[in-house]
Amino acid sequence: MKDVIVIGGGVAGLIAARACARVGLSVTVLEATGVPGGALGSHQVAGLTLDSGAESFAVRRDAVAEFIADLGLSDEVVAPNPAGAWLHLPDDRVPNGSVSVPLPKAGVLGIPGSPLADDVRRVIGWSGAWRAYADRLMPVLTIGREHSLGELVRKRMGRRVLERLVEPVTAGVYSSAADDLEIDVVAPGLNSALTVTGSLSGAVLSLRSGAPAGSNVAGLRGGMFRLVTALVADLVYFGAEIVTDAPVTALQRSGTEDAPTWTATCAAPDTAADADAPAAPAPETTLDAHFVIIATPGAQALGLLAGLSPAHAALAELDWPQPTAIELATIVIDAPELDLHPRGTGVLVAAATPGVTAKALTHVTAKWDWLAEAAGPGRHVIRLSYGRAGQDSPTAGLRDDELLALSLADTRTILGVDLDATAVRGFARTVWGDALSPATVGAPERVDQVREVVAATPGLELTGAWLAGTGLASVIPDAVAAASRTRQEALGI
Ligand SMILES: Cc1cc2nc3c(=O)[nH]c(=O)nc-3n(C[C@H](O)[C@H](O)[C@H](O)COP(=O)(O)OP(=O)(O)OC[C@H]3O[C@@H](n4cnc5c(N)ncnc54)[C@H](O)[C@@H]3O)c2cc1C
Repeated sequence: MKDVIVIGGGVAGLIAARACARVGLSVTVLEATGVPGGALGSHQVAGLTLDSGAESFAVRRDAVAEFIADLGLSDEVVAPNPAGAWLHLPDDRVPNGSVSVPLPKAGVLGIPGSPLADDVRRVIGWSGAWRAYADRLMPVLTIGREHSLGELVRKRMGRRVLERLVEPVTAGVYSSAADDLEIDVVAPGLNSALTVTGSLSGAVLSLRSGAPAGSNVAGLRGGMFRLVTALVADLVYFGAEIVTDAPVTALQRSGTEDAPTWTATCAAPDTAADADAPAAPAPETTLDAHFVIIATPGAQALGLLAGLSPAHAALAELDWPQPTAIELATIVIDAPELDLHPRGTGVLVAAATPGVTAKALTHVTAKWDWLAEAAGPGRHVIRLSYGRAGQDSPTAGLRDDELLALSLADTRTILGVDLDATAVRGFARTVWGDALSPATVGAPERVDQVREVVAATPGLELTGAWLAGTGLASVIPDAVAAASRTRQEALGI
């Protein structure tokens, strides 16, 4: 019998496990895949160790920096190249043409603070800029209680701002259409700033003036996956156990209502090496504990909760959005012509841009100096992202060589540089099935309902991006809070 079982060894689960283990609780983490870390993964491409998922963190809250300090990694925090990102858009003047322009700087999720600024007009033209400026003259119709980001932008600033500035950003960051995103989740404070300032652009300027100077994001020298390496080392030090290849298939509660015993059932790894052997039922193992923290993505968490009671099962019936699968294609290429960083640190692609399938491109060696040094002169790392909400994956059916050819073609178009296919030194593809939990309209209410049912269940905690919001700045404080409630229940501290 353990004190705590943590189901899911992504960053949320590892953080919660560490917080429990460091006060002396016995902890086992059960992770479905062969490696801990979840969306904070790494891979080797052409001899370079690269992030395969998250590669930065938002600095808008102190939570990540404090956590990094606690792990002793503060000296490894690095700022990205300030050159910033670009946009790739349909070119209004050329049929079936496309064009790259710098992403205007003074915005929030692409919403401009100064609609008539030169860099905004380059993207949406004079007519789009005047339409966006009309926002300043309109009455505030709904005082601070807008929900859909897309609706708000369309209403206040018009279609051009939505399609050419905001949609590329939301597709890149949240894999969602702006219409589906809940403002309070993706732009906290925007609604109240709207009420105070009376216009959307005023609200954007007010949020920007309150934000710290410098970049919105930071990274770790060597890659964000180092957080996972440090967390795992700490867990080992504190005596916690991490079991990989252990997908939990069922969770049961026994004992008394106030002092339950939790039993997690795992499908043990399939060891049958002989493919011709008749399929045998997967062997199962069980593990008991006084407390359980579920830190899987939403679909798996709701599945595990469903067996506990009708109230828990009903949570799966809420109006949850369909997760969007995204695929990343990483290319390592010898291309000195990219040394000039032709499109800054990366490019966000507007939907329906002719001739480009990717929705975003990160010029990773332009973004992070430490990686450019590690790669060496003339060698570059490019990461493309595929898959938009509500659309079939454009890459799922492609063989590796076909995806590489598509990625190279997209890179040439987006960066405006002719690249030689024989100069490719490494290529990797990574699929993230449901890692980017969409911050969709109605999310706060759904999350409140989940939290209410869980709070009324002694011995159970839930954490992870699907509840806390996408990104480490949201995930880390939520996992710390979940663990502190478990510690409080277990030890009164
Ligand atoms: C491509 C990509 C890029 C990103 N970029 C950034 C970025 O730059 N900055 C940023 O802040 N955030 C970024 N994010 C988001 C960030 O990585 C996530 O919000 C965060 O890592 C989620 O952590 P988590 O622990 O909640 O979930 P996950 O990382 O999804 O971990 C959940 C874990 O649970 C395991 N699991 C699932 N089912 C079971 C089961 N039945 N039993 C046991 N284990 C199970 C999974 O295998 C997984 O390891 C990115 C995400 C992706 C996918």
